Amino acid sequence: MALSGLDIYKLLPKTNCKECGKPTCLAFAMALAQKKAELSQCPHVSDQAKEALGAASAPPIRLVTIGEGENKLEIGNETVLFRHEATFFHPTGLAVTLSDSLDGTALARRIEAVKALRFDRVGRSVRVEMLFVRNDSGDAGKFLAAAKAAAGSGLLVILASEDPAAMEKAARESGAKKPLLYAATPANANGMAAVAKATGCPVVAKAPPDKLVDLTAALNAAGIKDIVLDPEFRRLDECLWAQTQIRRLALRRTFRPLGYPVIAFTSSTDPARAALQAAVLMAKYAAIVVLEAVEPWACLPLITWRLNVYTDPQKPIQVEPKLYEVGAVSPDSPVLVTTNFSLTYFTVEGEVEASRVPSYIVVVNTDGTSVLTAWAAEKFTADSIAKAVRESGVESRVRKKRLVIPGGVAVLSGKLEEALPGWKICVGPREAVGIPSYLKNVWPSL
Ligand code: SF4
Repeated sequence: MALSGLDIYKLLPKTNCKECGKPTCLAFAMALAQKKAELSQCPHVSDQAKEALGAASAPPIRLVTIGEGENKLEIGNETVLFRHEATFFHPTGLAVTLSDSLDGTALARRIEAVKALRFDRVGRSVRVEMLFVRNDSGDAGKFLAAAKAAAGSGLLVILASEDPAAMEKAARESGAKKPLLYAATPANANGMAAVAKATGCPVVAKAPPDKLVDLTAALNAAGIKDIVLDPEFRRLDECLWAQTQIRRLALRRTFRPLGYPVIAFTSSTDPARAALQAAVLMAKYAAIVVLEAVEPWACLPLITWRLNVYTDPQKPIQVEPKLYEVGAVSPDSPVLVTTNFSLTYFTVEGEVEASRVPSYIVVVNTDGTSVLTAWAAEKFTADSIAKAVRESGVESRVRKKRLVIPGGVAVLSGKLEEALPGWKICVGPREAVGIPSYLKNVWPSL
């Protein structure tokens, strides 16, 4: 049962010392009740109070870690049903299946294909991070060999076998760092709990929704805390229903038996449909999605979608506002200006790169908003652009003082010429896609 803010307040020191970052103990108690603070932020809580508050302060969805060190994936610990209420914190992990029935060459080829699913998007390196090693052969030796190959890839590993003996061997001997064990079921719960306990690995509780609560209770009773749920649905509508109910129960009712992240599976063998399914599962609310698809054209949009879903809507991704050089710039290079919204900047940068015309890009601080949004909010104005150009130092680095502004804000050109004496303002294309042609065909005549 969740404690109210007042219940929590009664157990706090009531000294209002502010060391927790809140102005009063009452404010801290309220934040704790709403899961917006952690008990550890108050250094003065008594052991007795800690015990009493432990359950109330635990996150409604447990944080589960797969892997170790820098190469780890944290899932769960989400606090909202809808992203606009705050943000989603821990991006969905993507796993691709690896059957232990494949022969050595096919196994190695598939691992290499998954390793290649790594892309640069808006300045970040993003990738598919896990292999789901499936004990299709039913043979513990083959399972161990496939698990070893997966562990050697540098990717995170999910070991999938319902045989506790095969699982224990693979978990202990494969070299995989803290793999996720898939899965404990009502039939093997004791054996799989023993493996999870002995190896310290997180484990999936796999059962139909009406049996999941009993299964997580049995795992908890066996001392297992790091659990991921599989409600065993594979049809997309059923997955959505189950994942939504689980999230609601965990967050709105603080229902601990289902307060765990969820693993989901795509069912389509068509890579495009599988990617669509995965995108839906990711939006609501899969913490791990397992795919058969290994095609880059199916995975790249999915990973881009993940970036979008897990971006804090209140903090747009930004680049540092400063002067950027694209290519081997010279005093004759063009100077373009844009905003510091990452997507805008990297789109412009990509098109400048594609033009093969080395250029300067002056990036104006618009609090991470795009060109037209920033213009409408008066963050991308003649004054702010002029200030950014002056502070960038680009003036002393070019012979031709020509500033290319986005075509969408052509209206600024007059005022900008007043604000930047000595510069000629050139109206560039409305869309970034027009930049290569503009730099090759229009710029030389300016
Ligand atoms: S640190 Fe603890 S004692 Fe101090 S104000 Fe915060 S809750 Fe109260």
